[in-house]
Amino acid sequence: ITSKLPSVGTTIFTTMSQLALEYKAINLGQGFPDFNPDPALIEAVHQAMLDGINQYPAMAGYPALRAAIANKTLARYGHCYNVDTEITVTSGATEALMASFQAFVHAGDEVIVIEPFYDLYIPAIELAGGIPVTVPMTAPSEPVPYYRVDWERVEKAITNKTRMLVINFPHNPTCTLLQPQDLDALEQIVEKHPLIILSDEVYEHLTFDQKEHLSLATRPRLAERAVIVSSFGKTFHATGWKVGYCCAPAILSTEIRKVHQYTVFTVPSPLQAGLAAYMQDPATWERLPAFYQEKRDHLHQGLQNTRFTPMPSEGTFFLLASYENISELSELDFAKYLNQNYGVGAIPVSAFYLEPNSAQANHRLLRFCFAKQHNTLDQAIERLKKV
Ligand code: PMP
Ligand code: GLN
Repeated sequence: ITSKLPSVGTTIFTTMSQLALEYKAINLGQGFPDFNPDPALIEAVHQAMLDGINQYPAMAGYPALRAAIANKTLARYGHCYNVDTEITVTSGATEALMASFQAFVHAGDEVIVIEPFYDLYIPAIELAGGIPVTVPMTAPSEPVPYYRVDWERVEKAITNKTRMLVINFPHNPTCTLLQPQDLDALEQIVEKHPLIILSDEVYEHLTFDQKEHLSLATRPRLAERAVIVSSFGKTFHATGWKVGYCCAPAILSTEIRKVHQYTVFTVPSPLQAGLAAYMQDPATWERLPAFYQEKRDHLHQGLQNTRFTPMPSEGTFFLLASYENISELSELDFAKYLNQNYGVGAIPVSAFYLEPNSAQANHRLLRFCFAKQHNTLDQAIERLKKV
């Protein structure tokens, strides 16, 4: 057969998780918690099943969950999405992203993606017949120790074929947040160019040091052309449930739902009903920054007692650490070496680049996930001290 995605193999997350299993490594690679969701959430799902919420829910999502999402979005970002026409519950953020690409990208359309990028975007664009155009972030350097988007470069990459711009903040894998000036720059860009913005905000609740996530929903001129994607997997420690959603103006949501109804049609009803009941209390998400900041600090401090150099993490449940004092291996080779010889799994950041083997993609950085119990982080740190 002729593959539609000839350059796609197994994702780095699966590859590194398999390797971690094989070598009985502590897996700080693929992003998932090693602890359960809140028992109250599990109870709410169980109760929904007992209450008979076990058949197909509405195609666009269980109404009470859409209402809970609308309330949360209004409370946090000040934007009022219509429950009936603008919010769609999807099979994880993954399906919302894939459905958006399928719905909006026509053959030959260009889609701008900021590099490094989450691995799904490029194959999804290609499957839709689109052409990915990558724009590199500026690397950290004094006095700005963070990766940032160079909006001038983004604007220069726009042509009359550009259909969409994909952004992802809090950013996986660089762990950075949007600043107000980023949203200003985006507003100026969309004023001149008729783009759809696909905004992957799955880590919206995981921000640290009193910094807030600046959703595109906070700016009406951005919200009117954005598809905002989120994930309950990240928010409520349930990555295996695969429940996410997207918020977009009705004219966009209508198109996304055309794909959604023929991909999965709908998402498990008891999970949706349980999430809706659980979300009635805003504390369920308001406590997340403090909860994860403590874990971030724990791993960051632990790594300072190793030969790794941890970088600041403003958000997500990851942090990057440099091994430039340890090895000259490429990131992939070093990640495998670490896994096999020291029993700690991590993700090479080069996997988030178009050319993972290039020098440009290899900065001797690994991504570590700190969505783990203290004990797991402590064990990993002990092993990393030996490297
Ligand atoms: N976008 C980003 C940036 C992610 O990191 C992930 C998950 N790791 C997803 C989307 C997919 O989310 P979900 O598991 O809800 O499909
Ligand atoms: N998003 C997760 C990560 O960045 C991985 C999800 C997956 O394995 N597809 O680690």
